[in-house]
Amino acid sequence: MPRPISVTISVSALAHNLAVVQRHLEQAAAAARGRGDACKTPSIWAVIKAHGYGHGTAQAARGFANANGLAMLDLAEAVECREAGWTKPILLLEGFFEPADLEILDRYRLTSVVHTREQLDMLAGYRPSRPLNVFVKLNSGMNRLGFAPQAYRDAFARAQALREQGVLGAVGRMTHFANADAPEGVASQLEVFQRTAGDLPGPVSLSNSAATLRYPEIALARPDGESWVRPGICLYGASPFFDTDAATFGLRPAMSLRSQIIAVQHLQPGDAVGYGSLFTADRPLRTGVVACGYADGYPRHAGTGTPIVVAGVRTRVLGRVSMDMLCVDLTPVPDAGIGAPVSLWGADGPSVDEVAQAAGTIGYELLCALAARVPVRSVA
Ligand SMILES: *Cc1c(COP(=O)(O)O)cnc(C)c1O
Repeated sequence: MPRPISVTISVSALAHNLAVVQRHLEQAAAAARGRGDACKTPSIWAVIKAHGYGHGTAQAARGFANANGLAMLDLAEAVECREAGWTKPILLLEGFFEPADLEILDRYRLTSVVHTREQLDMLAGYRPSRPLNVFVKLNSGMNRLGFAPQAYRDAFARAQALREQGVLGAVGRMTHFANADAPEGVASQLEVFQRTAGDLPGPVSLSNSAATLRYPEIALARPDGESWVRPGICLYGASPFFDTDAATFGLRPAMSLRSQIIAVQHLQPGDAVGYGSLFTADRPLRTGVVACGYADGYPRHAGTGTPIVVAGVRTRVLGRVSMDMLCVDLTPVPDAGIGAPVSLWGADGPSVDEVAQAAGTIGYELLCALAARVPVRSVA
């Protein structure tokens, strides 16, 4: 028998979460129309980078079959989606890296972000079989990707010239928010976007999960316009916010990491647990050893007290997580012995965000870091 650890990916949870986001945007559009603002619900790029945030590219593409497009950054993942039969748009969030990539964009009809002069130069030297669609990215304050505001309009004009030459098709505008989940919000970056690019033509794409959930109104398009949101994390049933959990929005975890108890120990007061003896019992204590460690993607920084569910009962991790195992307090589950089921995170466990907070990180990192050695089961 293989080690009793596995991860289950629920395709229906992915589809459910997409529908939640869709409804959230429709409600914002209805509210705006109620105030007399003519507007249109935005389209959704479902972000599936990093193998669908660890859920698998194919599972993610299936779960998001109703999305208007998929967004990612690895060209190989984009090709995988096309070859699996995805016919709707695909957006490359980092664009292309060298001239040879343009043939792949052309052949697989990939929409690209354009964020450097070098990319515009590469496009100027290429003759595609049909015009390529792009989003010209503005650096509105995050200082990661994008043209600086003072360079943006020239870059956009170059893209429009390439459109007249038949190299480019649709030329959109895009930016990315650094603080949509934080007290600062999106106001200052949105102001830079409006001031720099607000009057230019073409589709617009602004919002990640946090901005989509918190400020759905900024993504609404004019009736004759086109707007796209780019949610990622919320579609997997995890939260982009530190203080609001995913369940608050009606989102469901799509990844459930499960294992079993493989050994039981009986500690006396003064007995310690694990490497570094970080936890010491102050009373007699039954502990369980779970077949899951940091080599499976469970965070080593999740210390004593991290929530975990054994046989349906919430308890806590004890001591330091090792490579292949971790220890738990069996006090609340006196009947749980070897073979008892353990939920590390997901549908019947703590949320991935709770485990992440206990480890000083975010749910994104845990989902993406799921190790390749963990067997994946995909369920409807
Ligand atoms: C990752 C990413 C997103 C999605 O972000 P979430 O916080 O997961 O919603 C959107 N846009 C860009 C450019 C990204 O890199």
